[in-house]
Amino acid sequence: MKKINILYVVIPCYNEEEVLNETTKRLKEKMNNLISKKIISQESKVMYVNDGSKDKTWELIEKIHKNEELFTGICLSRNRGHQNALLAGLMTAKKYADVVISMDADLQDDINAIDDMLESYQNGNEIVYGVRSSRKKDTWFKKTTAEGFYKFMKFMGVDIVFNHADYRLASKRVLDELENYKEVNLFLRGIFPLIGFKSDVVYYERNERFAGKSKYPLKKMLNFAWDGITSFSIKPIRFVLGLGLLMFIISILVLIYCIVIKCIGKAVAGWTFIVCSVWLVSAIQMLAIGIIGEYIGKIYNETKSRPKFIISKNLNEGK
Ligand code: UDP
Ligand code: MG
Repeated sequence: MKKINILYVVIPCYNEEEVLNETTKRLKEKMNNLISKKIISQESKVMYVNDGSKDKTWELIEKIHKNEELFTGICLSRNRGHQNALLAGLMTAKKYADVVISMDADLQDDINAIDDMLESYQNGNEIVYGVRSSRKKDTWFKKTTAEGFYKFMKFMGVDIVFNHADYRLASKRVLDELENYKEVNLFLRGIFPLIGFKSDVVYYERNERFAGKSKYPLKKMLNFAWDGITSFSIKPIRFVLGLGLLMFIISILVLIYCIVIKCIGKAVAGWTFIVCSVWLVSAIQMLAIGIIGEYIGKIYNETKSRPKFIISKNLNEGK
């Protein structure tokens, strides 16, 4: 008989009192539907993570938990940001669940995609990424900045799934591996592709937030993008090194030019020396910074002490 899996839906919440009741209503319907179809076990739950909200979010979560067995929650000691709140939820949920889906409290991500995700999981995929098929309902600004962000990340050499945020399914096994990524600057979208395993993508339409305001103003978005790049890529360091090399080549050309001018007697006294020194010294400095940067890049990769490999099957432990 096919095993019925325990599903946990993890939802980070920061000042979401306006949306929680509606979210709870819609998810209750969805979860009960899945349970009655025997797609997920009766022990499945929705886990809210209160990320140090300043409003009544936690009181609301406690109330919902009291009334409905299907809902549970954890409360962080203070606001630690979306990514940390999500990780806290994932690490707690994996203790009880076989499979975990993460999503936002505002239900901008279509909850009907959960069915497709679970089907894909049944077909043997360990990670299923929810990808936005269109951003028609996003404002022009959000769409342009968000899509620009994905393109820029790719350009910077960070392997992420285009238009995928943090709406994803991950099996317990994947989450156990995630625990071994000890980095402090969290950028989960970048880590999941690194973990590997068989994965799949499901598409959905992104909706508008039905209440409340976005908790990701431009400043937070830029910080997040910067975190993503600096936590996953040493390309910026390479740019400095490249610039240093370029300047060095230019300074050699300048050197030749100055000597020629000097030889044909057109140089003012002292000019050759000053121009050559300025170019050569700056080029050497830039090169040196680039080389030091390369070593810092190495140190930075070492300090993350990410797993060097993950074994997905071992025939010696036949299962
Ligand atoms: N969130 C959080 N901590 C924060 C900021 C946001 O847990 O410090 C949660 C928020 O409650 C929501 C999710 O992260 O569930 C995504 O935030 P939001 O919907 O505001 O972002 P947007 O969809 O506008 O990018
Ligand atoms: Mg949102």
